[in-house]
Amino acid sequence: MNTQDIVIIGAGAAGCFSAAIASELNPSLKIRILEKTRQPLAKVKISGGGRCNVTHNCFDPSLLIEHYPRGRDFLRNAFSRFQPKDMIDWLTEHGVVLKTEKDGRMFPTTDKSQTIIDCLLNLLEKQGVVLSLESEVTALSQENGLFSITLRSGEIITSKKVLLATGGVQRSYFLAENLGHLIEPGIPSLFTFEVKEDWIKAYSGSVAAAASVTLEGFNKETKGPVLITHWGLSGPAVLKLSAFAARWLFDLKYEAKVIINWVQLSKQEVQEALFQERKKSASKKLFLTPLFSLSKNFWKALLTQVSPDLPELPWSKVSKEAILQLTHMLTHTELSVIGKSTNKEEFVTCGGVSLKEVDPKTFQSKKVPGLYFAGELLDIDGVTGGFNFQNAWSSGYLAAQSMVAEIH
Ligand SMILES: Cc1cc2nc3c(=O)[nH]c(=O)nc-3n(C[C@H](O)[C@H](O)[C@H](O)COP(=O)(O)OP(=O)(O)OC[C@H]3O[C@@H](n4cnc5c(N)ncnc54)[C@H](O)[C@@H]3O)c2cc1C
Repeated sequence: MNTQDIVIIGAGAAGCFSAAIASELNPSLKIRILEKTRQPLAKVKISGGGRCNVTHNCFDPSLLIEHYPRGRDFLRNAFSRFQPKDMIDWLTEHGVVLKTEKDGRMFPTTDKSQTIIDCLLNLLEKQGVVLSLESEVTALSQENGLFSITLRSGEIITSKKVLLATGGVQRSYFLAENLGHLIEPGIPSLFTFEVKEDWIKAYSGSVAAAASVTLEGFNKETKGPVLITHWGLSGPAVLKLSAFAARWLFDLKYEAKVIINWVQLSKQEVQEALFQERKKSASKKLFLTPLFSLSKNFWKALLTQVSPDLPELPWSKVSKEAILQLTHMLTHTELSVIGKSTNKEEFVTCGGVSLKEVDPKTFQSKKVPGLYFAGELLDIDGVTGGFNFQNAWSSGYLAAQSMVAEIH
């Protein structure tokens, strides 16, 4: 029987990167990747709107872990050994240069996810890693320290080490489950909020560039741009909050109160700025003097919501009461979340193989020696911005290092 040194199940970001690292660490190893579909790295292809947000320019492991609602402490060790800086260096050594956008997201300078795919697949080919497509694994077992891997075609492969990198799709969890691993239930993370109030949806396309968002009864505030859509709220601050509150919102059937501070300022700061403006722009109409870097349209929308005649009033005619109401609107707009919608740029699931049964230093199973995990299959997920791929790269790297060391 044809025995492999390492079999990797799943040709996604985690699986392909891990195979690349293992083959570079020891080119003489027999490594085979088994992929169910015809297309390796399919999610890399569509990621980041086709540009692939590879990682984030956050190089301090203790800050980096804060971007993971699930997996935060588990990843501490992995990031101390392989973090975004290491991925950037690795890609540079392999001919791919990344650039950083204003918000810290990093993309290939080509703005094409294909650049990352070509880099990984060319390397796998050069290193002699066998990539078997349309090779769905239907069963996995271990006997006398050797794994037996059954494909849908009936082929059986044996291997010393197995890396499970089958992603966050629930139907692929059974391979780990059948080997005795506990699975945390998979539910969506990184989604946008559908809201009930029509007035806000009428301003679809407006952006509050520096907002903060929280949910009534949930102890977390996120900051960043908020985008108004025709169904509700989107943008980095909302996506981040959805990730942290994923399980909480799931339990509430996605019905909750979201509270938005459109300007990231305290009530007092906003109030003072409004009183000052009343003095400074006494004769000007309110809608002509948008404050706090809000767009003219959105400023007018908030004014109208306070009172329909407010936009047309000159500042001198604005009562103290109206200023207090406007302050409240700017710092504490309450909207009713009634559902969720998928974010097209990036989405992940939370849930997967329970971290309690995985060694954070090696990503090896604590229950089944020789079995490893990497990527979204684990109960790890990050907020939007390149953190999910970083999990795939770091876990894939550590698993590769450990598998290679153990084979020695
Ligand atoms: C639209 C979209 C955009 C995204 N954009 C970004 C982004 O820009 N930045 C970012 O950080 N994250 C992004 N993400 C998240 C990121 O793509 C994932 O976190 C990452 O791809 C996970 O990698 P993985 O290797 O663990 O899993 P996957 O990429 O899902 O790969 C798993 C592979 O395993 C295969 N497989 C499953 N079961 C079997 C089986 N039984 N036998 C054989 N093969 C099997 C699957 O076919 C698949 O190819 C995005 C996600 C989506 C959906």
